[in-house]
Amino acid sequence: MHKKVAHPNEIHNTTTILWHILQACKGGDDVIAHSCSPHNPEMGKGGNASMVKNRSPAREANRCRKVTQIRGQVYDITDFAESHPGGAQLLALAVGRDATILFESHHIRTEIVDRVLKTLPKVDDIDKLFPDEEFPAPLDSPVYRKIQQRVRDEILAPLERTKGRAATGRGGCLLDMAAVVAFFFTSLSLYIACPSIMTGIILGLAGYWSGTGLQHTANHGGLCRSSYWNQFWGWFGSDVVIGKSSLEWRYHHTVSHHSYCNDINRDQDVYTSFPLIRLDETQPWSWYHTFQPIYTPFIWPLLYLAAQIGDFVNIFIYKASPGVEYTGITPIEVALYVFGKIFHVSITLAIPVYLHGWAKIWAPFVVYSCFGSFVLCWFFIVSHNLDGLRPHQFSHTTRNDWGRWQIETSASWGNVFWSFLSGGLNYQIEHHLFPGVAHNLYPLMQPIIKQECVNEGIQYNGFDGYFGIVPITFKMFCFLKKMSLNPSKTK
Ligand SMILES: [Zn+2]
Repeated sequence: MHKKVAHPNEIHNTTTILWHILQACKGGDDVIAHSCSPHNPEMGKGGNASMVKNRSPAREANRCRKVTQIRGQVYDITDFAESHPGGAQLLALAVGRDATILFESHHIRTEIVDRVLKTLPKVDDIDKLFPDEEFPAPLDSPVYRKIQQRVRDEILAPLERTKGRAATGRGGCLLDMAAVVAFFFTSLSLYIACPSIMTGIILGLAGYWSGTGLQHTANHGGLCRSSYWNQFWGWFGSDVVIGKSSLEWRYHHTVSHHSYCNDINRDQDVYTSFPLIRLDETQPWSWYHTFQPIYTPFIWPLLYLAAQIGDFVNIFIYKASPGVEYTGITPIEVALYVFGKIFHVSITLAIPVYLHGWAKIWAPFVVYSCFGSFVLCWFFIVSHNLDGLRPHQFSHTTRNDWGRWQIETSASWGNVFWSFLSGGLNYQIEHHLFPGVAHNLYPLMQPIIKQECVNEGIQYNGFDGYFGIVPITFKMFCFLKKMSLNPSKTK
């Protein structure tokens, strides 16, 4: 169960230039494939701090049980999988690692889940299973606790009374969900009936919208009240609509990126884009980085291709994303990946080719995959890649406070209109503080978070309004430019 994760450096010799291009095709929220700096063996150990280290007879004897650790206590969660309110797939992320950050950041009603935690069997009779979590935990952050309490009192409680919304913050996205699904089926029908560059672009937009407004919130467990429907829409919106494995996504995005946002050693989204894209001053510089502000947008369209290769390699060969072992993976999840891939290829390629012939389909298909990838990468990269959002630029206080860390490594942009069109991902600060709630609550949270940032002297990064995407994109290119400079000449 706990075999060693193949470190990305170990496979480096067999990688190719193309492989690096594929890995680097995304510098934002959802980097996919294996990569690591060949020059720095410390890179790419994301999630290792929270994973099982040593084998022992006692641990071997317990390997058939699913265990997790929260705040230094090991729990047996084998029998809890089916009754976990958030669903078995989200609970699986906690298996075999210290899940303190996942647990505290994805449950807004801490006292309720604490009561449930007390009912789980404790594992005290074996030696230490897990290394201690080195990263700050959410509930140790005074500002996070304060914001969380205000969100509960000022948003969730009134909505529960007036609209009957869940006190957990989950669900209530029916309208948003229906719009995404309707747009997808409309654009898919157009694409199949009349394949062209234009219908390829429209289907690509539907893929982008599904990736943000459907799969992202569902795979975080916030789209619907029902965990069954979250799992279904998470799979459909990702595996079927955009051809990206939701299984792989949950480990790399939720375990690695969300827990350790922008950390050079733990957040895959920073180190897997290297060596092609340099997003941190601690990464070695090469001559071609000079041109990264120009070539980066041309790499974004390759995300789709990278996902196809990366998912297969991660799931079937390494059983891990870089640094994050799939310790809780189940045969059902793997079967859903395979079935989703067959479904996806059938509707986007096989059926259209059967109806119209390859000559008429290849160009619309390429446009679909590239255009959706381009928009996804663009809207994700601006969220965490601006000057001032790198951890080494933070104060000692921020580096030791999970809430401050999440706020200062993220940037929000736009308004409610853009929230509808981006599944709330434009409210990235709000999303990183409360990843498990419905995305249409983020606009309501923003004033509270901004106010507390002013009170606490925390930098709230972002640009409001309909055209907020323009200045934040400009600022992102300025950051790419800054990272493109030769450090030996700028010192
Ligand atoms: Zn997320």
